[in-house]
Amino acid sequence: MTDFVFAPPATTSLSVRDSVQRFAVRRIFCIGRNYAAHVREMGGDPGRQPPVFFNKAAWHVLHGGATMPYPPQTSDFHHEVELVAAIGKSAFRIRPGQANDCIWGYCCGLDMTRRDLQGLAKTDGMPWSLAKDFEGGAVLGELAPAADIGHPAAGAIMLTVNGEERQRADLRDMIWTVPEIVAQLSQHYHLQPGDLVYTGTPEGVGPVDPGDVLQGSVEGVGSVELVLGAPE
Ligand code: MN
Repeated sequence: MTDFVFAPPATTSLSVRDSVQRFAVRRIFCIGRNYAAHVREMGGDPGRQPPVFFNKAAWHVLHGGATMPYPPQTSDFHHEVELVAAIGKSAFRIRPGQANDCIWGYCCGLDMTRRDLQGLAKTDGMPWSLAKDFEGGAVLGELAPAADIGHPAAGAIMLTVNGEERQRADLRDMIWTVPEIVAQLSQHYHLQPGDLVYTGTPEGVGPVDPGDVLQGSVEGVGSVELVLGAPE
């Protein structure tokens, strides 16, 4: 047995619908600006520009249903509901038509965002890490295998806060389709089983407060819930 200086952390994994098996998480890729109405609400140009990619660490996954303390260093903490694709086969320099073959399943995720820190990063031309990649910032629901649900390209994506609807759109509103996103990522990385891809959020993002209950869902895929707690 390897003698580590300290006990290595447990592998992050997601539960799988109707299965006792778990899906081990490798890397988390995210795409920004993928629904035109959301690009406009953020003050951007919704033309079909190449996608913006950023990352979240697998250690920052929070499972759906959890309570998350209101995070530090923000006073403008936002929800972003997204369809998340889970890679199940390696892929390098593939074409969009080959992408679905590499996708093992899907879930509903929340790309939680410290919007004030993202605004500062944009102004200063700095990375989005502090805004996007923080403890609990990658909230993920149960995975649904593509073998069961297919590859969703249409259907409602929505989010409520305390039962009130905040985000609603259709997967057809994406600027870049899921296969296009995966194909583009595969030009930069050797995608591997366990990699996750957040595919962007529709319009209606906004702040949440301690005590709020967030419920996101993607039609035909699943749902995710998050309860916001008091700051630590
Ligand atoms: Mn997002």
